[in-house]
Amino acid sequence: MDYQSTRSKLKTDSVHAVLQGLAPDGGLFADPSIENITFDWRACLKKDTQSMAVMILQALLPDFKDMESLVSQAYRGKFETEDLTPVVKVGNYHILELFRGPTSAFKDVALSMLPRLVTAARTQTGMKQEITILTATSGDTGKAALEGFKDVPGTRIIVFFPDSGVSEVQQMQMTTQEGSNVCVCAVKGNFDDCQRGVKQAFSELRETLKDSPFTLSSANSINIGRLAPQVVYYFAAYRDMIADGTIKEGDKVDYCVPTGNFGDILAGYYAKLMGLPVGKLICASNANNVLTDFINTGKYDRKRPFYKTDSPSMDILVSSNLERLLFLASGRNEEQVSKWMASLNEKGEFTVDEKTLSYIKESFEAGYCDQEETEKAIYNCWNENHYLIDPHTAVAYSVAEKRESTNPVVVLSTASPYKFPQAVLRALGESEEGNGFDLMKRLNEVSGVQIPKNLSTLEGKKIRFNESIERDEIVSYVLNKLNCR
Ligand SMILES: *Cc1c(COP(=O)(O)O)cnc(C)c1O
Repeated sequence: MDYQSTRSKLKTDSVHAVLQGLAPDGGLFADPSIENITFDWRACLKKDTQSMAVMILQALLPDFKDMESLVSQAYRGKFETEDLTPVVKVGNYHILELFRGPTSAFKDVALSMLPRLVTAARTQTGMKQEITILTATSGDTGKAALEGFKDVPGTRIIVFFPDSGVSEVQQMQMTTQEGSNVCVCAVKGNFDDCQRGVKQAFSELRETLKDSPFTLSSANSINIGRLAPQVVYYFAAYRDMIADGTIKEGDKVDYCVPTGNFGDILAGYYAKLMGLPVGKLICASNANNVLTDFINTGKYDRKRPFYKTDSPSMDILVSSNLERLLFLASGRNEEQVSKWMASLNEKGEFTVDEKTLSYIKESFEAGYCDQEETEKAIYNCWNENHYLIDPHTAVAYSVAEKRESTNPVVVLSTASPYKFPQAVLRALGESEEGNGFDLMKRLNEVSGVQIPKNLSTLEGKKIRFNESIERDEIVSYVLNKLNCR
């Protein structure tokens, strides 16, 4: 099974796709035949989560040897629970807790796995060059990637985050990161500026680094090695709902996903293509509702105000992984996808044809909620169910509440409320005075919910990184760090 670029006929196997991250033509590697792979989804539902991961990753990334040991190295002992991503019944919904990993965000699921895949790919291809992982983050990816790649031999990692665009706790998590191969830098701009700079570094430095001892790769969800591990929890949630009697095998389940870069929800679509009985995938956005408009009208228009919200990991106007859906929805028409992406780049918008749109609408719905509704969702969920949710989860919760559903609904919970204590306290009507640690403690007093250990131990850690650069300095910053001018 080959991966193909979404923008040309360029093909490569899964090992090389993981190593490269982004395709050389600027496209994303997508699996052109995902619904035809042999995969026994019913057998998959009989397994525990880590065995599920082995089976799913073997199917999606078939060129990797010994997936079983890679999965075990990635996850064993790193999450709060053996099944990695528990499901909790909360009111009318099942909440899928994706935040029980080492940095308390859902990105841990994929970023625990990706470094294992990258090192295995290096070994399998006999690669001599050191890989530098470049990552733009809206807050959570950065920390999860740093933690995943810290001190992994043969790799380095550089993380760019938007200056004052992440929560205080998130910033502390990153700037105190330990490890000898890590580097963190603030950028005076928003997430899209960081992402644009990183993409620019990839394209501009490709030639420069060709014969150097360095090569670049990505930990952003544009890497197929990020996407594949996320497919697993869609199956795991479904399995758990059979076990608790909510559904019978074959019944349809809707998944409501708080969305930014479209990676999490796209993994749900991959699960559906692999046979999982998914009803609707509900794309939930915050005030930056570019995807809501796109899925409802077929027109993607990023020329709109950018809002800084309480769910910063979703403050995104260019959702990179949508390109993979467009590739599938257009009937694998890489020429068409190239045109849409060029139009997005040059004019800030594109519009898909009727056929593509109706393909998308068969599986996806979209909704959004504003700041007030987000706070109300946190408040209501706590008051009615005594269950504390973070502002990202609250966006999905609110969107789920605004629609009618005949299927059971899973709401994906993507972060611990303790990553965003200020917003959560405000929503609960409590004082938001004090620094990040005061706020965590107050939230703990108010709710009685335990603070994750990785967050409670942040206080007193030394800040190792405090650089801040202009948004057009990303490429030169990377070159300097590589030290090969
Ligand atoms: C990254 C992130 C999201 C959005 O996920 P995408 O894959 O970018 O759509 C939502 N919530 C949290 C907490 C995140 O860290």
